Amino acid sequence: MARRKRSFLRRFLTLILIAVIVFCAGIAILLATGKAQKIDGVVYIPSVRTSVDINNGDLILVDSEYEYRIDKTPTVSVSARKNRSYKVRDNDIRLRAVTVKQLNDLFTEVKKTTGANCFCVNSGYRSREEQDAIYNERIDSYGEDRGSALAAMPGHSEHETGLACDLVWLADDGSVDAINTVGAYGELAADCWKYGFVQRYKADKTYITGISNEPWHFRYVGAPHAYIMEREGLCLEEYVDYVRDYTYEQPLVSRGGDGSEALIYFCGGTSITVPLMKKHSVSGNNIDGFIVTVYP
Ligand SMILES: [Zn+2]
Repeated sequence: MARRKRSFLRRFLTLILIAVIVFCAGIAILLATGKAQKIDGVVYIPSVRTSVDINNGDLILVDSEYEYRIDKTPTVSVSARKNRSYKVRDNDIRLRAVTVKQLNDLFTEVKKTTGANCFCVNSGYRSREEQDAIYNERIDSYGEDRGSALAAMPGHSEHETGLACDLVWLADDGSVDAINTVGAYGELAADCWKYGFVQRYKADKTYITGISNEPWHFRYVGAPHAYIMEREGLCLEEYVDYVRDYTYEQPLVSRGGDGSEALIYFCGGTSITVPLMKKHSVSGNNIDGFIVTVYP
């Protein structure tokens, strides 16, 4: 019995050794033929994505020009996943899991530093049908011109991505206020990048976004990206363009919420380059390529 066990173990270890040798030989061939490259001790290899992947990820640009193209958006119930540092209007509100996780961390910080716990998620994910109903209601009430400035066309609302939410201030007595009228708003606006959120529609960017000032609308993009957008004063339309100048050979250096450095670069088309055995994420830009983030 013991001998059989030993022989099984020997065969298992031999197989692992062969796999490691094949893997290393494969990398050596890629490096020798110039298909892979070693930069600062990290090997970068080619990887293939699909055109559908371009439409997905934390950094997709959805606006009046670029439509949201994902059929089934994975979402979770905010009330089921949230912690007690903020509120949610009702149990039907849903967001992507990453958005809720980051809201939990953001509001834990805001509550710790300001004591405020009345920020409330008033609107989250909307299906195409829900956005369609909101859009038509605005057009009926305000006419074509004003109505279309108040609600995004179906397929062109960030709320359809599950990465954006609208916040209000819901006091314990049930009264509702705009969040930018309360003292803790300054802390929220200043800290939100650390948890990957940006104020998507600022007054001075209306000429680019086409949306007037919305201090209540927050979009998740990821901390290293929110940091650059905040530092350089870029809206998402500008940021997606800004990143185009950076490659894996000469990446953009950013900071995560914990202050650690992350590397960011753009790959046009569906043949991209990713680091081997190094934590990274890949997001489509919803236009023509991918933004790769390499974590420390
Ligand atoms: Zn909104």
